[in-house]
Amino acid sequence: MILVSGCLAGWNCRFKGDNKENEKIVRLIKEGKAIPVCPEQLIGLSTPRKACEGPINGKVFSKDGEDFTEIFTKAAEATLELCKKYNCDKAILKEYSPSCGSNKIFDGTFSGIKIDGAGITAKLLKENGIEVISEEQI
Ligand code: SF4
Repeated sequence: MILVSGCLAGWNCRFKGDNKENEKIVRLIKEGKAIPVCPEQLIGLSTPRKACEGPINGKVFSKDGEDFTEIFTKAAEATLELCKKYNCDKAILKEYSPSCGSNKIFDGTFSGIKIDGAGITAKLLKENGIEVISEEQI
């Protein structure tokens, strides 16, 4: 089974309340090959919510300086549990997100600059042997 980001499945779960629906991801779900999850909603964050960037030096902050690291870490742990429950050995997650980004993230300056790095959920899944790619790699 493949775990996919909810926003790629068309869920309006992004911080702004919109989605990033991706045709290929929707098809995988319809074929019964993938299950969607939004780590940030899974842990109980509301939508819409504050925009966050990072992690930078392991920390995720909102634009107004609130530290979201702990809640994003709990979101990652809850997502890993879901992966185990559904025997997911692969994940396709939304690039650039502080939770889901698998290769690139924003640099924490909220100026649109992207840097190499992984979101907190993507990193934890990789550390636990799950192959994580982004929607840009399918
Ligand atoms: Fe949720 Fe991940 Fe999409 Fe952000 S990128 S809205 S955490 S599924």
